[in-house]
Amino acid sequence: GARLRLDKLLSNMGYGTRSEIKRAVKQGLVTVDGKIVKDSGMQIQPNEQQVAYAGETVVYRDVIYIMMHKPPGVVSATEDTRDETVIDLLEPDDRVLAPFPVGRLDKDTEGLLVLTNDGQLAHDLLSPKKHVPKTYIAKIHGSQPVSLNDKKLFEEGVELDDGYVTLPAQLVVDSAELHGEMYECWITITIHEGKFHQIKRMFQAVGKQVVYLKRVSMGPLVLDETLPIGTYRELTEEEVELLR
Ligand code: URA
Repeated sequence: GARLRLDKLLSNMGYGTRSEIKRAVKQGLVTVDGKIVKDSGMQIQPNEQQVAYAGETVVYRDVIYIMMHKPPGVVSATEDTRDETVIDLLEPDDRVLAPFPVGRLDKDTEGLLVLTNDGQLAHDLLSPKKHVPKTYIAKIHGSQPVSLNDKKLFEEGVELDDGYVTLPAQLVVDSAELHGEMYECWITITIHEGKFHQIKRMFQAVGKQVVYLKRVSMGPLVLDETLPIGTYRELTEEEVELLR
């Protein structure tokens, strides 16, 4: 397997900066296969050698796959000058592996967001050629309810404000209620691409407004509804396999 320096392995795993680790190694806090080592530049094969820090086994991970239940109000970016980002919601131990969001949800959109440092997987999931289906639930306001005609238009492809015609999308109306002058409809929609503000603009094209939006699945991966909003967990091995 691949080899890397002991100090790099430990800093990748969040045990401190290289110089902090060098000091800890000098102090005899680090063992490799049960023996104290003093050289922080020692080459390690993480899959074959056991590293411990202050008596605790260091579990080496180099890839990370996260399912986040994104809350509204945070941006799907790694850095932002004004807003909190989804990366800010990660524990330092996870952040140190430099995961990034696979695609974007709008700041006010909630739900399933995958984060990973596996560039290949992210690239494959986002590839426009793959048409990975993404399912959302939404609350729609309009002077008319979401109709069979809207469903037909979405199935055929609807022209957005910039002239782009969307790929066929599947629309299901789950409920419709009249509140004063305004219809409030809950819908489920599946799209197969990810244009900027796509769902909002699709409804805008049929004279309606998205007032709540939540992604519930991406390809075969379904949001774990036991995951409280604003929290995350690592994907299981089975879930990672599903995405490949
Ligand atoms: N469509 C939108 O309009 N916003 C999102 O966040 C995702 C899909």
